[in-house]
Parts: sequence; C-alpha cells; structure tokens
Amino acid sequence: MLRGFLFWGAGGVQGSLFMFESFRGIARMSSTVRTRFAPSPTGYLHIGGARTALFSWAFARRHQGTFILRIEDTDVERSTPEAVQAIIDGMQWLGLEADEGPFYQMRRMDRYKVVIAEMLAAGSAYHCYMAPEELNQLREAQRARGEKPRYDGRWRPEPGKVLPPVPEDVKPVVRFRNPPESVVAWDDLVKGRIEFANAELDDLIIARPDGTPTYNFCVVVDDWDMGITHVIRGDDHVNNTPRQINILRALGGEVPQYAHLSMILGDDGAKLSKRHGAVSVMQYPEDGYLPEAVVNYLGRLGWSHGDDEVFSREQFVEWFDLDHITPSAAQFNTEKLNWLNAHYIKQADVSRLAAEVTSRLARRGVDPETGPEVERVVELYRERVSNLNELADAVELYCVEVHATPELLEQHLTESARLALADLKQRLDTVVWEKAALSDAIKQTMKAQGLKMPQVAIPLRVATLGVTQTPSIDAVLEVLGRERVLARLGRYL
Ligand code: GLU
Repeated sequence: MLRGFLFWGAGGVQGSLFMFESFRGIARMSSTVRTRFAPSPTGYLHIGGARTALFSWAFARRHQGTFILRIEDTDVERSTPEAVQAIIDGMQWLGLEADEGPFYQMRRMDRYKVVIAEMLAAGSAYHCYMAPEELNQLREAQRARGEKPRYDGRWRPEPGKVLPPVPEDVKPVVRFRNPPESVVAWDDLVKGRIEFANAELDDLIIARPDGTPTYNFCVVVDDWDMGITHVIRGDDHVNNTPRQINILRALGGEVPQYAHLSMILGDDGAKLSKRHGAVSVMQYPEDGYLPEAVVNYLGRLGWSHGDDEVFSREQFVEWFDLDHITPSAAQFNTEKLNWLNAHYIKQADVSRLAAEVTSRLARRGVDPETGPEVERVVELYRERVSNLNELADAVELYCVEVHATPELLEQHLTESARLALADLKQRLDTVVWEKAALSDAIKQTMKAQGLKMPQVAIPLRVATLGVTQTPSIDAVLEVLGRERVLARLGRYL
C-alpha cells in the first residue's frame, strides 16, 4: 500500500506498471470504501460541487474508508491554478480533508498512454484514420437521411472485414471498441436501475491525433488505478457512465458503485446560478457563515435522517448513507441556511467569534482596541444576529464613535429627550458601573423627568450607538463603559 501512496504522493508520472498493479491489487484486496472528489478546475468550487465533495467525504469517513481528491485538469484551456487553489481552499474551509491527493490528471499522461497502448495491443481499441472533414460529411449525410449522427465504425476491425487503406497524411485517433452486447446497465445508488443500449454508444475516441487522452478515458483509468469503490458525483455525468463502465470492463477492472446526485435548484426553483449567490464556497466565509452551518446545511440538501435538521459533522458522518439521498432535485433555501448559521453562532466558542469579528473589523480599517473587550460585545449580540458580518457591524458601533443620521437626531433627540439625557449623564458620572445600578439610574431619570422607558431609552441608544434598537439598554451601557458613554452623550448636550 505504502508504495502506491508514495508514488501518488510524489505526483510523478514515471512509475512502472508494477507500481500501479500493486496499488490496484492492494486497493482491491482490502474491501474498504474508496471515494473521490474529482473537480475540473475551470471555475470556483460552487455549492453543488461542495455537496458532492461532502457526500463523498462523509461516505468514506462513515465506512472508515479513504477519500481522494483528484483534479481533472486535462482541459488545459479552461483549467487555472487559481481554480485549483479555490477548490483546495473551499474544501479546507469546509473541513473536507482528503486522505490522498490532490492528484493531477495532467501529471498522469504517461500512464494513460500506457493503457491506450495496452488496449490497442489487446484489440479493445483501434486506430481510426477518418479525417475531420470525412467525419463531417458522414454526419451531414446521416442528418440528411434523418438519422442520428454517429461514427459508422468504418475503421473498426471485425473478423473477415477489410479495412480501408491507411492514408498517409492523417494522424489517427484511437477509438474504444464498444462492446456489441445489447445493454449496459447499473443499479444507481440514488436513481435506481439505469440502462443504455450499446447501439446508442459510438466507439468513443479515447486518444486524439496528438496522442492526448480524452476526458472519459482519463476518468476510467483513474477510478481503476485509485481503486475507487463508490463514485458519488453530479447527475450531469449519468450519460458518461455507460461509456466508462464499458471501458472499465474492457480493462478488466471492477466496476464501482455509482451514486448520481440530482442537481440543486435555487430558492426560486430555477437552476442554481450566480444570481442565487452560489458563486464560490469561499464567498460563504466572506458573507459571515460558519463552516459547520454550511456543512450542516449541505448535508441536508438532498439527504435526510428522519426529521433531523441540526447535526454536527460527527453526527452527520455517523448517520450518512446513500439510501436516503433523494433522487429528485434539491432546492436551495437561504432562509434555512441563515437559521442554521444563527444557531451555530449562538453555540460557538466566544473567543472564536471574537477572533472572527476582530479580523472583519481589521479589514474595514476599524481598530477593536478602541472599543470595549470584543468578547463582551459579542456576548451581547450573538443571540440576535444570523451572520458574522452582522456581529461585526454591532461591535463596530462600540469601537467607532458613530453619529446618528440627522433624521434620527431630529426625531429622537428632542428638547425633552436632551433634558432627560442631561439628567441621566449626571447620574452616570458617579453611579456604580454595573447593570442593576445603571438600570436604577435610568429609572430615576424617568421619574425625575416624568417620562416613560422608551422616551429615555431610545434617545439614549441614538446618542450612544446611533441606532434605535439594541439589546437591553442597561447591558449596552455596562459594556460600552462609563468613559465612552459620557463622551458620546456629551456630543449632543
Ligand atoms: N470532473 C468532473 C466535474 O467536475 C467530475 C467527474 C467525475 O466525478 O467523474 O464535473
């Protein structure tokens, strides 16, 4: 096993076939689950990809198996190092650690070429010298006859068949010799039995004229070499599966189990898009979400465990199975995600929340040292916010001398309100600075000025924090501190 790991770990391509063989052999011998997440680094890790990664990871963890990260970067035009980094960052933020990888397909080219050569030698693949123009002509003729355009097998060797003379100026592609059996079928762990007629499947091109392998072929070789037992992926790959199974069988590989996840729809039932804020997973920390909220949310997106809505990562791993994934599309629900986030903010360690808030304030150019202890403000607001940015907004009010808008001042700092605040300010000069005493001072002012609670509390909020709504005013004053309260009140008196 170790040899295989070392080989993969080095990410090299020069490994001997023996290493691959031993790697495969051992993977097959042990019956443990091996899953993979195989993103193409052509964009950010979006929420659908993150859910696929989560399910693959959880299934491996659930069965003490192995979770592999494989970067499918053979589309060199569209793959970027930034997208690779975004995938790695997103998975790290979600806590989806891979046991093996990341492996890069571009570093495995030699291996694919070896397999192609073996298939040519074994007769499960063949050279096709049809020039692109010729193929176009064929397709047009088929369309004109009302047929589905498909390769007609003219270079496919058959017993007793005479192949056309090899043209000198055409570099051949390599085609997979698709089996003639009637159907290729599998019991999808999410969608149930799926069958494709082999007659519908062309002899797939597995290597281009320049020898580079094509997408479906690389996936097969990788799943085979990596001993993948369960392929959990988006259902946009259902159509690739019959081809992949056929190639895998031709190679003598064991066909893994497949679980194709249905797509995720936006809040409005339309296909999930940027419009729904599903840009990149890394947008979620930016927007003030905690990873455990997102993991919990994604875990419930298309999978269920009875009516359980709130579960920890550990609980999820313990419960997760492929039997309770819904075959129908899951609908994204921002409100529920926000509700879960609020829940986890209430539960989180206060020092962690304070650290999150502090770094957010620093990015805004706000020095938290100018305010009261961040943890105290966090305690005051954590029950009232649904994301970390809202929490930072609240703490900011304690650090920066906020001025209420002229409209608020005009509405709330009336003559009588100012008199009340002046009365209170005197009391606050000397009062013992703790909640109960502060509350008493406010009550004394109310009495002295003949006012009701809101008539004092609202102007007090506006004058000290620039807003009309806050947690209980005595608690706010206590946390804000005598000096700040007196200075802020003083601005209006
Ligand atoms: N690279 C493919 C994608 O990003 C996934 C392939 C697979 O999981 O088999 O959609």
